[in-house]
Amino acid sequence: MCLLEQQQLFFSSDISSQKPNTIRNKSTDCPFCRTEDLEGILEREGNIIWLMNKYPTLKDAHQTVIIETDECTSDMRHYSTSHMRNLMRFCLTKWQEVEATGSYQSVILFKNHGPYSGGSISHPHLQIIGMKDVDYHQNITMANFEGTNVFTHKGVELTVSAYPIIGFTEFNLLVSADKPSDTFPDMLQVLVRYILDGFHKACNSFNLFFYRFNDKIICKAIPRFVVSPLFVGYKIPQVLMDKELIRMTKDLSALYSAYARSENP
Ligand SMILES: [Zn+2]
Repeated sequence: MCLLEQQQLFFSSDISSQKPNTIRNKSTDCPFCRTEDLEGILEREGNIIWLMNKYPTLKDAHQTVIIETDECTSDMRHYSTSHMRNLMRFCLTKWQEVEATGSYQSVILFKNHGPYSGGSISHPHLQIIGMKDVDYHQNITMANFEGTNVFTHKGVELTVSAYPIIGFTEFNLLVSADKPSDTFPDMLQVLVRYILDGFHKACNSFNLFFYRFNDKIICKAIPRFVVSPLFVGYKIPQVLMDKELIRMTKDLSALYSAYARSENP
């Protein structure tokens, strides 16, 4: 018999079946808009609310949600610079607080946006999940974040993965863990705008995944489409041809140069 050492979580389809879905079912009431009915609130800062996930579908996991704003149909593209900065500071702090409890093998911070992202509630939110028995570092290496350097500004580096996890385009923002400055949320917002408005006209979904690796905080942003069967069946990721990569790098560095100029007029 072969004993696989695979990091995996146990999923409850019973709990999942009770979950509302406002992405597929537009007429479903949004639970994150009815703030007076929210239960299990952990902390509030302005219109940002951190609370326990009402539908904890994962076994041996501490599942929490961060509601990003009180505007149901808004998204990261449209936040003011100061809201984006406050939100990221809040998320990184809470993520670190859950890590510091020492109760979990690892703690993940991530976001789903759009119909292909795997999310079920369209109201903008992120999730922090502490996992008792799973260490995400076992599945990932630094190589998954390295590749073509697109832009570096004030200690924040943007790369396109040469060895992506799932394939096609994976953007990575890397910053030193001890000083995640405002440049990090600023550059993330430029990236999210590019993914939804410039990257590919059919792209309406993305994920953000945050990692702590080698004294760095890394945010991987993945534009999402239907997952390739070559990955599902054979674990073979596909990467872009050089021509495509060069075009994308050029577009993005133009956007980031404009951002850097606007910051230091
Ligand atoms: Zn809502």
